[in-house]
Amino acid sequence: MTNGIGAAPGPGHACGVFGVFGVDHPERVCYIALYALQHRGQQGAGIAVGDGDDIRYKKDTGLLTEVFHDDSAFNALSGGQAGIGHVRYCPDSEAHAANTQPFVVTQRMGRIGVAHNGKLLNASALRREMEDSGAVFQTSVDAEPIAGMIARNMGLVRDIGQAVESTVKRLSGAFALTILTPDALVGVRDPYGISPLCIGALDDGYCLASESCALDAVGARFLRDVEPGEIVVVNKTGMYSRKVRGPGGGMCAFEYVYFARPDSVIDGVSVHRARMDAGRALASVLPVDADLVTGVPDSAIPAALGYAEASGIPFGAVLCKNRYIGRALIEPDQTVRSMNVSIKLNALRASVQGKRIVLVDDSIVRGNTSVYITGMLKRMGAREVHMRISSPPVVHFCPYGIDAHNEAHLVCRAHDCEYIKRTIGADSLAFIGLDALEESIRGPGCSGNCLGCFSGRYPVDPSPRGTSTGGTRT
Ligand code: AMP
Repeated sequence: MTNGIGAAPGPGHACGVFGVFGVDHPERVCYIALYALQHRGQQGAGIAVGDGDDIRYKKDTGLLTEVFHDDSAFNALSGGQAGIGHVRYCPDSEAHAANTQPFVVTQRMGRIGVAHNGKLLNASALRREMEDSGAVFQTSVDAEPIAGMIARNMGLVRDIGQAVESTVKRLSGAFALTILTPDALVGVRDPYGISPLCIGALDDGYCLASESCALDAVGARFLRDVEPGEIVVVNKTGMYSRKVRGPGGGMCAFEYVYFARPDSVIDGVSVHRARMDAGRALASVLPVDADLVTGVPDSAIPAALGYAEASGIPFGAVLCKNRYIGRALIEPDQTVRSMNVSIKLNALRASVQGKRIVLVDDSIVRGNTSVYITGMLKRMGAREVHMRISSPPVVHFCPYGIDAHNEAHLVCRAHDCEYIKRTIGADSLAFIGLDALEESIRGPGCSGNCLGCFSGRYPVDPSPRGTSTGGTRT
């Protein structure tokens, strides 16, 4: 776009992690689960399998189906009883095979694999410290120093639960980890619970996943979310848990706004229900007469349904989404991203002509999507387009990895609502308030949310003081 809106690198994303213990074909179970988590990242995928003695793994850049494109990949991983997997989002410059996960290290007690979703605030400091004592790093992912620290601690304490606990005490930032040894699976969630992780039960085993939709995909019964600061260890004797420190209250609100799949339940809150409630609340902000309400597929459809229900304006499907491309913003190159928006969405001309339309989207980040869709609806003959956004303006960077490093690229930070309304060509524009968003994400297991990208208040202080950023969000 050439209108001053949206010519910058966009937000990144949460990666997806999975782990399973006590099944016959962990490589296949991981594959199916990662398929269900593919929306969390498309730049790389990998699976590591433990067979009691060793860990074997395969990982590469690309979609899961590209990395595991024939039986040979599965055959090479067969014969285990546990596995972990990862789907990766990263900026273009970081999309190397070496940076894909799980990250596997070898130490004298055996191999250890780590899959990480989140971003450490103190990765650089940890790397420096480890380099000072002789470590050599080959990648820029946080999983590498984490794996290195676990391996060192394992050499000292010889118990994976203890080794992980000693490691986790040194980490600051957002992390949901699945960790594999030849004979155990470990899951960890950061003390504020910024990154999601849940536990499922299979007939004779357990699994861990970033989102419950992956448990559904493999037929696992949802047991519970991993608590903030909790370490869950699964081995042949069963599952046990140890707690490090967990104030909680930091679950990323943007998971509910956009990242997660609507069929997932995170910390007791249905993502679909939260989006519907946000839409209902949005209907009372700047009410408008209109002929129909529609939503930007897929993530804004529940909010549009909630808006329609609360306003009494009928919902109409107007936008058609091409299912065979990835998410536009998740494509880290700006030129391709802009093209992606136009091949991604088209509209039903007959449903648009002469209509006053309330167009609901879940967020405005750089403004590309709003400019494109409003323009398209107007060209197709819409009489009015009223843009309604089911999250507050994104005005702050995310230290935990939403890749909006330069706040000036966030259109709502750089410009006021009136300017954005004019630039996107809408007849009116309104956002849900912060309180209403928080209210929509309420639930029994939810101890609070990180709303930092909207409010600038973060659960872990992102200022330098020994926690300089480094590594790549995964
Ligand atoms: P933008 O076009 O830059 O304003 O981004 C907002 C649009 O992209 C909305 O339609 C969202 O559904 C979607 N979106 C928001 N955050 C992300 C993200 N981190 N990755 C991909 N798409 C996103």
